[in-house]
Amino acid sequence: MALKITEDCINCTACESECPNNAIYAPGVKWSLAEGTGVRGKFTLKDGTVIQAEERFAAFSNNNYYVVSAKCTECQGFHEEPQCVSVCPVDCCVSDENFVETAVQLVTKKELLHP
Ligand code: SF4
Ligand code: SF4
Repeated sequence: MALKITEDCINCTACESECPNNAIYAPGVKWSLAEGTGVRGKFTLKDGTVIQAEERFAAFSNNNYYVVSAKCTECQGFHEEPQCVSVCPVDCCVSDENFVETAVQLVTKKELLHP
């Protein structure tokens, strides 16, 4: 499943540059699917919503760093361990129980994000 960042985040910035999918954003910064991935044009999210990959969407948090679930693959295909978990000094990168995915689904997701 995707990871999420809890309110315990101290905004240290350490995780942002470690994410191979550019799935982590600073508070208040708008996100896009195209940023840090190979996706361009129309893309269908897990819930069936169709978006334009280049479109920038409002930040999920204005207070803490946040994860875009649609872009998080638990680092599958890049690293053995989730890199945000490895570098976070306060252990606030945790599994997102609202975004459950199997290992196979995560590998497929990685291939969709980096065709
Ligand atoms: S687990 Fe990996 S892909 Fe997901 S947010 Fe953390 S660093 Fe990015
Ligand atoms: S490494 Fe942890 S504390 Fe630092 S910005 Fe990322 S989630 Fe927040």
